Amino acid sequence: MQRKYSQELFEEAKKYIPGGVNSPVRAFKSVGGNPVFIKRAKGAHLFDEDGNIYIDLINSWGPMILGHAYPPVIEAVYQASINSFSYGAPTRMEIEMAKLICELVPSIEKVRMVNSGTEATMSAIRAARGYTQRNKIIKFAGCYHGHGDSFLVDAGSGALTFGIPNSAGVTKGTAKDTLSLPFNNLDAVKRAVNENKNEIAAIILEPIVGNMGCVPASKQFLQGLRELCTQEGIVLIFDEVMTGFRISLGGAQEYYDIIPDMTTLGKIIGGGLPVGAYGGKKEIMDCVAPIGKVYQAGTLSGNPIAMAAGYTTLRLLADNPHLLEQVNKKALAIGEGIKSNLQKLGLNYQFNQVGSMFTLFFTNTPVTDLTTAMTSDTQLFAQYFQYNLDNGIYLAPSQFEAMFVSYAISDEDIEKIIKVSYEALVKIHETKKAN
Ligand SMILES: *Cc1c(COP(=O)(O)O)cnc(C)c1O
Repeated sequence: MQRKYSQELFEEAKKYIPGGVNSPVRAFKSVGGNPVFIKRAKGAHLFDEDGNIYIDLINSWGPMILGHAYPPVIEAVYQASINSFSYGAPTRMEIEMAKLICELVPSIEKVRMVNSGTEATMSAIRAARGYTQRNKIIKFAGCYHGHGDSFLVDAGSGALTFGIPNSAGVTKGTAKDTLSLPFNNLDAVKRAVNENKNEIAAIILEPIVGNMGCVPASKQFLQGLRELCTQEGIVLIFDEVMTGFRISLGGAQEYYDIIPDMTTLGKIIGGGLPVGAYGGKKEIMDCVAPIGKVYQAGTLSGNPIAMAAGYTTLRLLADNPHLLEQVNKKALAIGEGIKSNLQKLGLNYQFNQVGSMFTLFFTNTPVTDLTTAMTSDTQLFAQYFQYNLDNGIYLAPSQFEAMFVSYAISDEDIEKIIKVSYEALVKIHETKKAN
């Protein structure tokens, strides 16, 4: 595929923006080549500046679950926008939004809106610390909770992709309050909690990790964490920024039937606009200002345009259960196709999937945590990625990310994804043999 204009734009962008991008993974650094500059999107398809079309398996990293430029969402945004973009004062729509979130997400009795997933997780651990009067938090290696200082310890997503899971600029003082443990390992958590008796404010995790590739928690692990947190007075936080409203309407907590004390949300909750939220038990959320002593605020929080896009997306999902069912069905069809390709080719690469999130790991080792994810051959992934891109399939540009399926994807798109995936696997193994 010709991508001359994208290349020119990238050169231009690099002059004014660090690395030419406003979020690191977009730079395609781990897969080589230049990023594709997107001009517009409709349904399941992205159109780049060079006139190429791609089937989108990122969907803005999750938010566009209904597909791009979904007419009812456009209409809601338009109607909100003619009343002005922002007031910095409360609105009726914020109550509707909060009510709907409380209805849908089992753990949430009260919720505060913010502007990104990063803000949601930062605020959630502050609330948990205020509530418990304790300082330390436990996170898991390979989980990503946005770019807040406390979380850039063994972080996943871009931090992992670029080999900077422990960011420069985070002070030792901050990092020492974050204990990072292996995912899916309950014994390690029990040990850490024992060694830090009455010091752990919160345990935060992605119940189905998307940010080291798709890696689900085992039910026993989540159950064990739930029991341990109850016993030790630790706030259990599910970071459902990716899984919320996707794995099921009530998120992974509904899917596993394990209820955390707090939940963080983002991505789908804004329908493509910048939104996040954190919520949970009343007694914890009532620690937040103006009624409590934990300070947290936002000039644009609950922004009317963002609420219109997010609320409409959630309302549609809630009122039409077949939407999520279809999304899952489509994703499973892709998954079946890819697994059958692997079988036909006699390959034993690991394919992890829960609902409409999945990752093909280029390793023969079952992937259950960061150590096993890291056994993947990222060179092979890069070749697989490039073949897909050149043949009109837009995958996440890193081995350590999940793909996201939208409702807009058609049977024809699904067939093409499976076919191109097959060809890509054949191609990269020819290259591998030749080497
Ligand atoms: C994307 C993500 C975040 C960060 O959200 P931003 O809106 O990018 O700040 C946090 N947690 C998880 C699980 C995510 O996937």
